[in-house]
Amino acid sequence: MVEPSDSDLAREVVPLLQDLLRADTSNPPGHETRAAVVLKAYLEAAGLPCELVAREPERANLIARIEGTGEGPSLALLGHTDVVPVEDAPDWERGPFSGDLDDNGYVWGRGAVDMKNQTAARAVAIALLARSGWRPRGDLVFVAQADEEDGTHQVGLTWLRHQRPDLACDYSLDEGGGMRLELADGRVLVTLNVGEKATLPALVTVLGEAGHASVPSPSNAVLRLSTIIGRLGQYQPERTVTPAGRRMLELLVGSPDGNLEEAIARAGSLHPWLERTLPARFCTTISPTRLTGSPARNVIPSRASVECDCRVLPGTTPPQLEAELRRALGDDLAYEIAFLEEPTGGTTSPVDSPLARICQEFLDRHDPGATVFPTISTGFNDSHFMRESFGTTAYGFSPFRRSADIDEDARAHARNERVHVEDLVHTTRFHLFAAQRLSEVGRA
Ligand SMILES: [Zn+2]
Repeated sequence: MVEPSDSDLAREVVPLLQDLLRADTSNPPGHETRAAVVLKAYLEAAGLPCELVAREPERANLIARIEGTGEGPSLALLGHTDVVPVEDAPDWERGPFSGDLDDNGYVWGRGAVDMKNQTAARAVAIALLARSGWRPRGDLVFVAQADEEDGTHQVGLTWLRHQRPDLACDYSLDEGGGMRLELADGRVLVTLNVGEKATLPALVTVLGEAGHASVPSPSNAVLRLSTIIGRLGQYQPERTVTPAGRRMLELLVGSPDGNLEEAIARAGSLHPWLERTLPARFCTTISPTRLTGSPARNVIPSRASVECDCRVLPGTTPPQLEAELRRALGDDLAYEIAFLEEPTGGTTSPVDSPLARICQEFLDRHDPGATVFPTISTGFNDSHFMRESFGTTAYGFSPFRRSADIDEDARAHARNERVHVEDLVHTTRFHLFAAQRLSEVGRA
């Protein structure tokens, strides 16, 4: 097995990450080709041919592949190359595009956590395997995709998957998991993202009667809208236990049969992150965000509306969400509900698979005592494209050991985003291990 020392891995992954961080790929506008050419130079120096595949020249994706013998499962390692924009550059302690390595072992920059760290680790893993002459039983594919953070321009994986049916792999690893949770009872869990909730934004329009604003009226649609929004704030959504949700509770507090609300609360008491995020993994969430009222200040409108960012569990249909919205909003005021987009995302992969077991095997070797903890993400990433287009068993997993040490402001999308070299080495080692072990085991 290819198993370099920590210092050899650091010598590979740190400079590559620094170069990626120095390539400003803030999206919008993206300019991900800057990162793609950095990766291309690095991978081709390792003897791995690369393709840049672009719908717009400035927004290239990169694909590289070690061809397998066709006897085993194929694996795609994915990493998006864009980053969210920096709104507060003067407040950063080090430049957001500096790629600085500080004396404490942190590499700084926008994307150090989300997710140039992982993109670099995956590139190093495939490069080292290519350099060693390793031949897998199934193809090992590396994809560095554009436009994940914004995702609306049809230049990243949403476009690429239609152009490149050869990206169909049995398994994939992308962002979304690997967070290490030290529980109040002493246990250690590492998140494995097996699915994501779907986004299904809704527009609720409340109906009233128009009039002159100089004569106030209780039929003012804006006043009625405030009542409706208050109800959304008070609403206690119904709980649903998905297979991943069941596994989560089993791991945390034992069987979830019985009082579900109590089980979720008990699980939440084990870690602040669980307390904050676990409830949303068992229900629809409805967050009112954008408001529209009268077009003129002196006109009482007959219609006023609120856009709701709704996130539903995998398998929830628009009619089911509409029924839930109606339960939340009541039936004594007149309103209309419209869905603004098709449901996006909302897919899951099996909680158990050879790759999930390999993740546990890696922890047993390199983080003994830690247990893989399958989660359904409340957010969003590209894994659902792999599941929908290719039926891939798509996970988010990039294990970290020290990320819990650093401040809230060092994390994804935050000021002072940074990653520790030990974490970079640890996750690079994981990807090397996963690719080689998966090649050894048979199909699921
Ligand atoms: Zn990301």
